[in-house]
Amino acid sequence: MKCDVLFFGAHPDDVELGCGGTVHKLVKQGYQVGIIDLTRGELGTRGDEATRKQEAENAAKILGIAVRDNCGISDGHIDNSRENKAKVITMIRKYRPDLVILPYFSDRHPDHVNASKLVKECIYYAGTEKWPTGTPTSELPSHRPKQYLYYMLAEPFMPNVIVDITAEFEVRQKAFQAYKSQFFVPGHKSDDKETWISKPEFAESLIARVQFYGFQGGCRYAEPFFAEQPLKLDDLMMLAGK
Ligand SMILES: [Zn+2]
Repeated sequence: MKCDVLFFGAHPDDVELGCGGTVHKLVKQGYQVGIIDLTRGELGTRGDEATRKQEAENAAKILGIAVRDNCGISDGHIDNSRENKAKVITMIRKYRPDLVILPYFSDRHPDHVNASKLVKECIYYAGTEKWPTGTPTSELPSHRPKQYLYYMLAEPFMPNVIVDITAEFEVRQKAFQAYKSQFFVPGHKSDDKETWISKPEFAESLIARVQFYGFQGGCRYAEPFFAEQPLKLDDLMMLAGK
């Protein structure tokens, strides 16, 4: 299946908490959108692998995406190995996105940093004809996405792209709350050990973040992104909201 946009996360839930509103906005705009989780999040303190898988499927339905796939890389070991690169390159060649959205390259969680580095390299090498994934390019042709953007997880950065998600905010919240084992969800009780991300304050801080960037962008809610390559515009007045 060809996807217009592919979002990558180290763990199922990363994309939802970083940019779930933008995912849903692209779906509403008629694009084929996919999410690729590098791992199954099996090292998560709360819940288990089966629960996380079900939660990820529920979130995918809420967001309305065309596909959700998993590279099956071992959680906590997203190293830049030849084996892991082959898995990510295969996903890019399989779904052939024009745009890739990946985690920002600096973060408190080593998996997010490693995922960022791994996916960025693979965006390039997926287009290198002779990079050997084990599947010949006669079956899975090489493909290099045209553009990529980083999304924000734990570490703030100065964004140079923000996306108005005011109309998608409620869906963003529902997709985030699909991960009941991970995050605070009003009315849901859990006996699992409390973690940094299961506190109500974490969920509140994410709302505060999209409010903050919304204010900067002149709307109610917005999600921040960082482009490290130049962004081409055909109509400069788009920058002024036209
Ligand atoms: Zn994560």
